Amino acid sequence: MMKKVIVIGAGFSGLSAATELASKGYEVQILEKNDHAGGRARVFQSNGFTFDMGPSWYWMPDIFETYFNRFGKKPADYYDLVRLDPSYSVILSETEKIDLPANYNDLKNLFESYEPGAAAQLDAFMEQAAYKYKVGIQDFVWKPSRKITEFLSLKLLIDAIRIDVFSSFYKHIRKFFTSPTLLKLMEFPILFLGAISENTPAMYSLMNYAEIKLGTWYPMGGMHHIVKGMVALAEEKGVKITYNAEVQGFEIVNGKVTGVKTAAGLQQADAFVAGADYHHVEELLGDGLRNYDEAYWDKRVMAPSSLLFYLGISKRLPNLKHHNLFFDRDFTVHSHEIYTDPAWPSDPLFYASAPSVTDPSVAPEGCENVFLLIPVAPDLEDTEEGREKYFEHLMDRLEAHCGVSIRDSIVYKRSYAHRDFKSDYHAYKGNAYGLANTLMQTAILKPTLKNKHLDNLYYTGQLTVPGPGVPPSLISGIVVATEVDKELKG
Ligand SMILES: Cc1cc2nc3c(=O)[nH]c(=O)nc-3n(C[C@H](O)[C@H](O)[C@H](O)COP(=O)(O)OP(=O)(O)OC[C@H]3O[C@@H](n4cnc5c(N)ncnc54)[C@H](O)[C@@H]3O)c2cc1C
Repeated sequence: MMKKVIVIGAGFSGLSAATELASKGYEVQILEKNDHAGGRARVFQSNGFTFDMGPSWYWMPDIFETYFNRFGKKPADYYDLVRLDPSYSVILSETEKIDLPANYNDLKNLFESYEPGAAAQLDAFMEQAAYKYKVGIQDFVWKPSRKITEFLSLKLLIDAIRIDVFSSFYKHIRKFFTSPTLLKLMEFPILFLGAISENTPAMYSLMNYAEIKLGTWYPMGGMHHIVKGMVALAEEKGVKITYNAEVQGFEIVNGKVTGVKTAAGLQQADAFVAGADYHHVEELLGDGLRNYDEAYWDKRVMAPSSLLFYLGISKRLPNLKHHNLFFDRDFTVHSHEIYTDPAWPSDPLFYASAPSVTDPSVAPEGCENVFLLIPVAPDLEDTEEGREKYFEHLMDRLEAHCGVSIRDSIVYKRSYAHRDFKSDYHAYKGNAYGLANTLMQTAILKPTLKNKHLDNLYYTGQLTVPGPGVPPSLISGIVVATEVDKELKG
């Protein structure tokens, strides 16, 4: 008899765990609360526009290759990738903007123009970052991180020191560059890890390698085409996905989960993988069965939440690239308002994505599809009036940057923030990207991927190892599936 595994949640991590388990010969069912797959990477259509709801940066194409290759496929079987050039645009002030060239030599010339000697420094930095990427991505992130002994080989310890696990990115980057502009550019990829550079291990310069050497890509049609491809692959492997099937509780017998409760009744299996937000699953389990109490969770450093706006604009916007980072304000103040003294930002940095610059299919002809994101502290009071205030503020800055009026051409508008993250995903404190990758929340110091009281309940996704982001979530699913398989086979 085939053993059965139930996976809770059809986000990247749940789909990945389910596909890996099905390909290892298990009967796998995913129970998903929402009416379609993707989790934070869902999609919606309105007025002829197609909006990706979450991720917009396709980095680390090699991880997606590894993922699909594992099952005898490649990304190109499911979607067409294009490399963006410029990779993105950074707005430094009303008069200064940098378009980051995809070509490495052009980028070196740009660095040299900001700081004599910076081109050679970039080479030196990249050489180390390449090594960190190799060790970090080929080795460290694939560890289930359940025991310190996984990291106790001499090679790994030497590697840990060589890849700067124990020093901060902030100090590391300042050994190479002094120009404030270059520091800003190089610290940007670290924001993906959900923490500021002072609190991020220097090994994460591997993110700079990913960004600069491996490039910024885009799947034509939108990011949800990755999800579409993963769902097709999962189903090819035999995974059954049930939508509108929220898990409301667990049936526990003798230290094991025997079933999960949904509105349709009890669903039984031999093992369970929770790809839904870790804290939410802990709440469903209740005291005595959860791994960590509320005080533990409250002390975690969460990656920021986001205030988002999805906008359909009835004309093309000049001066906008596919990815635009409005770094024209003081990030020290904004980051203080995210991490140290949580509050709505007084004068935020923000990000504007316009995928219609690359992809005509996501907007009606002659229109622009715009997604605006302000990173904000989790757990803030989220009101309609508050969102509107920021909308007006962003419009002022966007109109100034594009040099045209925008407000009068908005034909579709939707905002999204803490309240929505909570109701759509049961997100703890309304978080967007899970736990920050600080040193104290790395590897074995992250919430562990197995329940300590229940023999057959596992966790996957951005709140456990290896961390937030699409590529780590794919890896997380494979890592947990491997553990489940090992233990089910005894
Ligand atoms: C606005 C935004 C922008 C981002 N940008 C990027 C980016 O550019 N690049 C990048 O790499 N990453 C980005 N990320 C991060 C990335 O999207 C996430 O790290 C990743 O999608 C997390 O996947 P997951 O499987 O861990 O969780 P989720 O995607 O949240 O999946 C969890 C699933 O569980 C379901 N669920 C919850 N509770 C239950 C229940 N009780 N029963 C059944 N199902 C349940 C949810 O509906 C959801 O489908 C972004 C995230 C956000 C929010």
